[in-house]
Amino acid sequence: KLAVEIENLSFVYPDGNRALDGVSFLVPKGLKTVILGPNGAGKSTLLLHLNGLHTPSHGKVKIFGKVIGEENMREIRKNVGLVFQDPDDQLFAPTIFDDVAFGPQNLELEKNAILRRVEEALKAVDMWELRERPPHHLSLGQKKRAAIAGVLAMEPAIVVLDEPMAYLDPRGQEEITAILNKLQEEGKTVIVSTHDLDWALEWADYVVVLNSGRVVAEGDKGLLTNRR
Ligand code: ADP
Ligand code: ADP
Repeated sequence: KLAVEIENLSFVYPDGNRALDGVSFLVPKGLKTVILGPNGAGKSTLLLHLNGLHTPSHGKVKIFGKVIGEENMREIRKNVGLVFQDPDDQLFAPTIFDDVAFGPQNLELEKNAILRRVEEALKAVDMWELRERPPHHLSLGQKKRAAIAGVLAMEPAIVVLDEPMAYLDPRGQEEITAILNKLQEEGKTVIVSTHDLDWALEWADYVVVLNSGRVVAEGDKGLLTNRR
């Protein structure tokens, strides 16, 4: 079963910059998938399409077989959680607890259900003890984990992370990698962008290489094959 299908996706920014040019690939359910490419390759632009934050200029994106459109945006956002590269774009409540609770509160769940989700999400990223901290009192690694918790509290089947390792020390990177592995073991489809080839080949089941807005290679790890 397919989690994501990207068909001939192109995206042109209002200034005329063609950030994506005919991108196509598939992500089977449960597969650890990496979008690999240098700065400016189009990774962020691509990931923003996966939960409808960007609308394709051409082509389409399907989530569990359904084309993303205005009419199913709520369902898409429930299925696909996107963690931004910069956690400061995501954390704005007075405390980490409030921040992670914000999403479930908007789902109008019962108080107990909200509390359960927040606790589970914060424990999954080892941030429960720090729940009363304001985001600006956290290290970058802690902020990144809190931002991941905010997405997990929505219980999405697909978790998309934009450069989750960027600017972290080796220990911080290991912590994030362990979290990603746990999510995958729980049955989630995890899609990660990175510019780190070594990490991609170590972690991913499947790698899609993006350069200048095009897929230049894709394949199982260790078996990257060029695509003409
Ligand atoms: P990556 O995430 O791989 O670094 P991006 O998706 O951020 O790549 O950028 C892809 C291309 O789109 C780059 O050329 C970048 O300069 C351009 N771009 C990104 N955001 C904008 C924007 N808001 N307006 C115009 N061009 C943009
Ligand atoms: P600084 O971190 O600049 O020394 P403070 O003296 O305000 O600032 O904070 C001391 C410690 O208390 C820090 O570790 C901070 O993260 C924590 N802290 C500050 N405000 C809160 C809060 N509302 N809830 C929980 N912990 C907090």
